[in-house]
Amino acid sequence: MSDGKQVLIYDCTLRDGTQGENVSLSVDDKIHIAEKLDDLGFHYIEGGWPGSNQKDVEFFDRAKGLTWKNSKIAAFGSTRHYKNTVEEDPNIAALLEAETPTITLVGKSWDFHVEKALGTTLEENLKMVKESVAYLKERDKEVIFDAEHFFDGYAANPKYAKAVLRTARDAGADWVVLCDTNGGNLPSTVAPLTRQLSPEFPHLGIHTHNDCGVGVANSLAAVEEGVGMVQGTINGYGERCGNANLCSIIPAIELKLEKNTIGKESLKGLTSLAYFVSETANMVLPNNLPFVGKSAFAHKGGLHVSGINKDPKTYEHFDPAAVGNSRRVLVSDLSGRSNLLYKIREFGDLDADDLDLKSLLEHIKQLEYEGYQFEGAEGTLKLLLHRFGKDRVEPFDFKGFRVLVEQDHSGQCVSEASVKVSVGGVIEHTVANGDGPVHALDRAVKKALVRFFPEIEEVRLVDYKVRVLDARRGTAAKVRVLIESRDGHQSWTTIGVSPNVMEASWNAIIDSVLYKLLFASPRRNQKTDTREKTKV
Ligand SMILES: [Zn+2]
Repeated sequence: MSDGKQVLIYDCTLRDGTQGENVSLSVDDKIHIAEKLDDLGFHYIEGGWPGSNQKDVEFFDRAKGLTWKNSKIAAFGSTRHYKNTVEEDPNIAALLEAETPTITLVGKSWDFHVEKALGTTLEENLKMVKESVAYLKERDKEVIFDAEHFFDGYAANPKYAKAVLRTARDAGADWVVLCDTNGGNLPSTVAPLTRQLSPEFPHLGIHTHNDCGVGVANSLAAVEEGVGMVQGTINGYGERCGNANLCSIIPAIELKLEKNTIGKESLKGLTSLAYFVSETANMVLPNNLPFVGKSAFAHKGGLHVSGINKDPKTYEHFDPAAVGNSRRVLVSDLSGRSNLLYKIREFGDLDADDLDLKSLLEHIKQLEYEGYQFEGAEGTLKLLLHRFGKDRVEPFDFKGFRVLVEQDHSGQCVSEASVKVSVGGVIEHTVANGDGPVHALDRAVKKALVRFFPEIEEVRLVDYKVRVLDARRGTAAKVRVLIESRDGHQSWTTIGVSPNVMEASWNAIIDSVLYKLLFASPRRNQKTDTREKTKV
């Protein structure tokens, strides 16, 4: 329980989180996420609302049969309906049928909501809280009472809001949780009210939403005022602007407030958890998310990178490894020599003494001016550095390509690409069809090379993005194509820029294949030997 140093983490991703727009999780997804949270030592996992839908009933059925090492699974539901007795209330019965060790009961603490939304009396609502909590306590459940709209309720009728908290506690609730359900309060309200209530309610929790952009700040303010439980979601998923983001709250408590949550060791798994949940929910993780985002420790300005090279503390508030994230240095037209040197060190297999850094930097700036952007295309950047080295030999030589797109009389569109390539003096000419012109081109390139480099077969094109660079020039504008490729071990991104979308795609595809052969294929040298022998 709360000893002032320990803050319990209560995850609502599987219930509140799934109420976020575009967030949808299957029962399998929910089980997988719950297992990850358990691995990392989250104290509570709210599985869902068994009284509200069949998917959540199924989740609890499956969760019953699993072993949870660290987490208590919680079922969520409301206090009994004002028209029902607690024994006959179907929602309360569903909570018990979930067979979880913990039940989280939500109850109204705002007089306006009791009368308007529930349509009952203030007195009856207190009875509903009391009887529901007591009934579950008699059945040996740990009960967490979420006081819905507590801060708004307190502003409207402080006496009543407090009476609701006291009723829940006196009926046996193990925790009472102050909820900013509409997310409309600021830390200047949350902090003093929490401070005032902390002595009377030693087992106090906080549940905030992010409608003012201060969900995390409100949670941290409450922790500083002594709450022992924080509720939130991974990546801040949730209704409207989302719940308070646990991926910010947890490291802030551990690293800034020096209190314990899931522990320093588990903290290192936070970035990977954030990505796992976003992938499972089919959401893109915003790069600028604090602590866990891809850009959280990305340095672009030359001055910043020069500082980072001397000591990372110059531009980082803590070591990214503490949350399992990593430092990145971006190369762009804002870069200096330091960015390039850092990248060369990071790539590992290039030698800075081998490179003419001054002309390389000039070349990069020229390419950026023409529309290239290497921040999202580190594969092409690495190839560029490689090309500037001494005595580099390209594994193959492309002679040209042709793409045909045809619509036949039935309306069906057919794409066909042909490419000509030379490997060690041997010319290969291939043709391939595809679902679209880029697909056909990609297939033709690989078909031409696979005979010489069988590892090409492992490369999959997983993402293709096109951006128009200067829309004002209409169809003569340049386009930037970004391609993400993957083999069984890693992924890399390459770029092409041209006024012609096929030429831009071609350049990005060629770089993708070159990257595989030069940097992503441990068997390359061996393969090169074989090629020499089969040259005839
Ligand atoms: Zn909520």
